[in-house]
Amino acid sequence: MSGTERTLFAGVDIGGTTTQVVLCHRDLTVLERAEVPTPAAEGGRAMVGAATDALAPLLARTPGRLAGAGIGAAGVVDAAEGRVLVASDSFRGWAGFPVAAVVGDALGVPAFLDNDVNAFLRGEVSGGAVRGEADVLGMTLGTGVGGALWVGGTLFEGPHGAAGEIGHIPGFGELPCTCGGRGHLETLASGRSVGARYADRTGRRLTAREVATAAGDGDPDAREVFRAAGAALARAVVMTAGLVDITTVVVGGGLTRAWHLLEPLVRAPLEAEPPVSGRPVRLVRGSLGSDAIPVGAAARARREVGTE
Ligand SMILES: [Zn+2]
Repeated sequence: MSGTERTLFAGVDIGGTTTQVVLCHRDLTVLERAEVPTPAAEGGRAMVGAATDALAPLLARTPGRLAGAGIGAAGVVDAAEGRVLVASDSFRGWAGFPVAAVVGDALGVPAFLDNDVNAFLRGEVSGGAVRGEADVLGMTLGTGVGGALWVGGTLFEGPHGAAGEIGHIPGFGELPCTCGGRGHLETLASGRSVGARYADRTGRRLTAREVATAAGDGDPDAREVFRAAGAALARAVVMTAGLVDITTVVVGGGLTRAWHLLEPLVRAPLEAEPPVSGRPVRLVRGSLGSDAIPVGAAARARREVGTE
């Protein structure tokens, strides 16, 4: 051990129902974590206050010097300005809220805001399942389908922060999407749509987890819903590989609890229709679980402030 004080980074994931916070060593090892409800109906200041209040006891009992904080949040964010641009209706007073500035003031360190799917991918590349890889598509299969791109060793956000938003590209049928579009990947491959597609076929409303269990028990409708989700995901991967020549896809989100079921259903069509490069795309499940977003947010802070 050197005699210098330990450098710490804080990471925050402000989700629709829960907020996760972590305190990391500068190598991104998680030293402490906590989870609190997100007061999404009470406005931006309350949401940020819940996160910084959750961090306070972690900071108090962890020796070291906090050097920066990162926040991952759903919606469209201005990562340079640290502000949420577009938020879902479930968040009150969130769009326009200067998240990074308020967190930075509360903690007394520089703070940075990222879209949550970008933070997920940064987390998995910085310290998770695809550590050190240069060209990766990240996908999160939760309530919706999120996407993010890591190209040439860096996050590729695009001029509007929308690069990699694979959940909302068309060409996957005609079903209406939550965003108002039609035939988007999300209509087949999110947790919510797995439940909805099963209900379309059977008239029975199950959660994605229950559909997965039914598929495991041999229910042909449940199997077909998962087959369609897997085929759609594989097609999205092939399209991405054709455009930006990714080597790897890392998948996270609640639907990956059914990875044993989903993984072969993505892999088979991926192998049947390989990218034009002829090089197969590696398909892996994220390894950080619910730490991926806060650790990725902390990794952004580490990159911005440096570690020395
Ligand atoms: Zn859509």
